Parts: sequence; structure tokens; C-alpha cells
Amino acid sequence: MAEPKHILIRNASLEGQPVDLHIEGNLISRIVPHGKSPLILPDSSSKPLCIDAEGMHLFPAFYNMHNHAAMTLLRGFADDLPLMEWLEGHIWPAEATFGDEHIRAGVKLACLEMIKSGTVFFNDMYWKEDVALPVVRAMGLRAALGVSLIGSQPAGERERSFDLLEHFEPQEDGRVALSVAPHAIYTVGPDLLRRCASTARRRGMKLHIHLAETRGEVEDCLKEHGCTPVAYLDRLGFLGGDVVAAHVVHVTDEDIRILASRGVTVAHCPASNMKLSSGIAPVQKMLEAGCRVALATDGCSSNNNLDMREEMKIAALLAKVSSGPQALPAGRVLHMATRAGAEAMGLNAGRIEEGCLADLLLVRADEAAVTPVFNPCSNWVYAANSSLIDTVICDGNILMQGRRVEGEAEIREEAREIAARIARLSR
Ligand SMILES: [Zn+2]
Repeated sequence: MAEPKHILIRNASLEGQPVDLHIEGNLISRIVPHGKSPLILPDSSSKPLCIDAEGMHLFPAFYNMHNHAAMTLLRGFADDLPLMEWLEGHIWPAEATFGDEHIRAGVKLACLEMIKSGTVFFNDMYWKEDVALPVVRAMGLRAALGVSLIGSQPAGERERSFDLLEHFEPQEDGRVALSVAPHAIYTVGPDLLRRCASTARRRGMKLHIHLAETRGEVEDCLKEHGCTPVAYLDRLGFLGGDVVAAHVVHVTDEDIRILASRGVTVAHCPASNMKLSSGIAPVQKMLEAGCRVALATDGCSSNNNLDMREEMKIAALLAKVSSGPQALPAGRVLHMATRAGAEAMGLNAGRIEEGCLADLLLVRADEAAVTPVFNPCSNWVYAANSSLIDTVICDGNILMQGRRVEGEAEIREEAREIAARIARLSR
């Protein structure tokens, strides 16, 4: 991975205007109309690496707010089944065979797929996140790696997870961090949920949980606790601006009011919710109530890819099915996929502006599918596909250029070999 100190992107189109964009270190330092920019800025001593971006659009890179990265290894392993049969009969038995090498290979494959489809950050929830962490760092992405906690874990294992969280030392650049990820209210009891929240708040970490995903979860919560899952978590003092709640499909108006007032970020996962037949999240209502809503793919075995561009289109179309043609316009869904996620993680990123972190994409505009260009954002959300992404930059580093990512063939080969072993063991 190249790490030049100064990159100059020349003649890219930003919201329809040709610009030159300078990256110094990990920040976007200057954006000027094309041709008006000196090659070397007055306050910079280094000669830049130049990228000729003629015919390409600049867009902010994607922030995927709910993922189980290592599950790329189970892509297509079991489909078209009811949720519990899918989990208990197929996914969990296969995952039970996972060792460190599975985590490494699965996370590497996920990082590769995310880079190729323009994602630079993912909010993860899985096992062995300490094994995943060096892989993500080496691949150059950002991540919050959620250390999973469930009530049925053996006590020793659970304490090892808390030890990991207590002793994690954040790296200087903060690019990859751990977070606290109690799986859901139906797998984690009230005491453990409270402990997760207090650990996260003491350590300055984010919280990540599945919430109100299915109708069954809501019905069980009403029976057991006499209130909805959102009200239950609020009663425990769990909800706050540091919480990312995934799915949030089955919620009342009062739930939405609570989520908005607590500053919770909802990670909307439309493809996964459709594939597992969980339902349609009331995204338009949440946005109108002032909720923070970001976008996510969920893991690969319920989507079945990590393509955030595709997820934008699915989110926009699904919102229109339930809330009318004006719901979730292109600009709004692009905001959800980029800036909303970055802001939830406390990053000054997710938009192409001077002073922001240099997380950006160069997207080709020379294909029939994106011709003509009346509105670049409309083309990006509704007409394009992620194979038009030419260049991906994260934290000022070029992760992909000309669609080439270092080590791609080896990563795919390793994943194929491990998947073949999973198939032999499981069938
Ligand atoms: Zn999930």
C-alpha cells in the first residue's frame, strides 16, 4: 500500500464542477476549480503524487454501519430459509468449526470486497475480533470491531472478552478500534447489558447491538418485560449517542421518539431485512422524527454481498414502496451511506470538504449505464454499479487504483480453500 504524503487529484468532477483536490497526510487540504491550483501548495514542501481524474466523479467513500465481516466465508452457504432454521440448522454449526485462520481469511476477503465496492469503514460484530484487528489494519480500512457478548457464553470466555476490552490500547491514528457488542436483548440478560454499557462508557468505546429486528423479538419482550425492546433498553440506561442499533424494523412511534431523543444511530439494513423476511423499517418516519439513520449491509450470509452502493438503491426503493415516491431521495440516501455513519463514529469525514479526513472515491462516468449526467448523485444511487469505482482512498492512503488491490488473487484463493473445507465438514 502506497503512503504518499501529498496527493493531487486533477480534473475530477465534484457535484458537476471540475476541481483539483489536494490530500496532505490523511486530510483533504485544498479543493480548487480545475486548472487554478499550483502543483505544489505554498505551505507544502513535498511534490505530490498526481492522479489524472478526467472523466471521473468524486464521491465520499462508504461507511457500513453493521457487518459480520468473517461471514463472507459463508456467502451462499444456506439461503431461502426461515431465520431460526437458517441460523440453528446451518450458520451456527458451520461457525462452530471456525478457528483463527477462518477469521483471518474471512475478514481479509470482506476487506477486499469492501475496498472494491468503495467502503472504507465497517462497524463489525463477531467473535475473535482481536484476530481480525491486525488484518483490518494491514488492509488499510477503518473499523470498529465489536467484541460479541451473549448470555450463554461460558463465564471464562465472557471474562476473556471483557479483559480484551479493558486492556485494549487504541492506536495513535485511531483507524481501527474495538467496541462493545452485546448481541441482542433476547440473548443477553439485563445485568450483562448494563455491564456492557458501563464498560463501553468507562473505556470511551461505542456500543453495537441488534434491536427490534423481528416481530417475534417484540412479542417476547412485551410478554417478558411488559414493554417494547427499545423501551426496555432505555429503562436499563443503555441507550445514548454512543449506541449503534442494527435493523430497528418493528418500532412504535414512541420507540422512534426515544431513539431520536437519545441520539441513537440506527443502522438500516434493507437487503438483509428483505431476505430474512423481517419486515420494512419505517425509515422515513424515523428521519422525520429526527432520528440518526445510517446504512449497512449486515453480514454476507444474509445479503449476500457487502456492496453499499447497491444497498443505497435498495434502501431508496424500499422506502418508496412503503412511504411514497418522495421518500428517501438520492441525496438523502447517499448521506445515510456516508456522512451519517462517519458522524456516528465521531469522525470528521463522509463528505468531500477541506479539513475532512481523506476518505473518497473516484468513479468512472464513461459507461452507457451512467450516460448522460443530469445529476451525478442520481446516477450514483440509481443507475451506477460499484465496478465503476476506479480509485479508493482511505485516511490519505490509496487502497485501490485502476481497480487493482494488492494481493487480491491470493485472498480469493485462500477463502476458496477454506470454504471447500467448511463444505466437506458440514455436508
Ligand atoms: Zn447482524
